[in-house]
Amino acid sequence: MLGMTYEDIVQKIMKETAMSRDVLDKKIEEKIKSLSDLISREGAAQIIANQLGVKLVENFGNRRFKLREVPRGASSVNVLARVVSIYGVREFNKEGRSGKVANLLIGDETGSLRLVIWDEKLIKLLEDGAINEGDVLRVNNAYSRVNNNYNELHLGSRAILDINPDGEKVAEVQARVGNVEKAESVKISELKEGMQVELNGTVVQLFEPRHYLACPNCNKKVFQQGLDYKCNTHDIVEPKKSPIVNIFFDDGSGNVRIVLFANQAAQLLNKSHEEIANANIEALDSFKRDVLGKQMLISGRVIRNQMMDRLEIISSNVKEADPVELIQMYEK
Ligand SMILES: [Zn+2]
Repeated sequence: MLGMTYEDIVQKIMKETAMSRDVLDKKIEEKIKSLSDLISREGAAQIIANQLGVKLVENFGNRRFKLREVPRGASSVNVLARVVSIYGVREFNKEGRSGKVANLLIGDETGSLRLVIWDEKLIKLLEDGAINEGDVLRVNNAYSRVNNNYNELHLGSRAILDINPDGEKVAEVQARVGNVEKAESVKISELKEGMQVELNGTVVQLFEPRHYLACPNCNKKVFQQGLDYKCNTHDIVEPKKSPIVNIFFDDGSGNVRIVLFANQAAQLLNKSHEEIANANIEALDSFKRDVLGKQMLISGRVIRNQMMDRLEIISSNVKEADPVELIQMYEK
């Protein structure tokens, strides 16, 4: 994620906290387990570093990323891309902060990303018509954020933007114009790590739901602190059980395990979070009767489960396949 190896991260934590190697390795293993093997060892080490307040230094140098390779949650990211769509400028007023934000879709030969502009000077350029669809943008010092499972590039006050710079060319853009949320429609047999996909298939297996304790306000995982549970945003809260559901999904070309958290699980099973998180064996049987064999469209991001050495999908959207929509999809 940060371009640091597991060993780099571990060494850095040990140096800054004087924690022993044994204790640290154990903490990281526990973190991987607590996240149901959903993250890599590097990812888990990074979370532990964050919890311990150890700042990991990213070092991409002057590297320029292809859009598909833009690391998640990184600062100082450089890309060269073409403007695919401009979604305009909107004003926001949130928690005492107000201002403007602009959204664009940019693309290169590897894919497309949402570009979010916060910097006032850059927004002004956009409002003045200095940025247009088809323009080449050289972006330096952007940062990436994950939003609804989609990686985005953000331009803050440190960002440097050059419009149609001399001598810079972008190959043909691989993007579906006009729809940021539109993921690639692919077969399960063609899945590759990091892809943002939409699969059309059938639910062939449903495993017993599990749950995590979540903040009732924002659904994020809470942390235990003494007798209390704490949300990073909402401080001490009365946590609720938020469901995690695992399924196998088959589209005829192969099958893949899909993990559905909270609202995704609720959408799949058409039940409330509580009903799913508290499901007993009988409830599970009735869920299975409802959902097994059902044809659905599931979007999400392809990740590699390191422990099992296989690809899985973290769902970001679930809907029942609508026959009319399916026909349109195949006609494209
Ligand atoms: Zn919260």
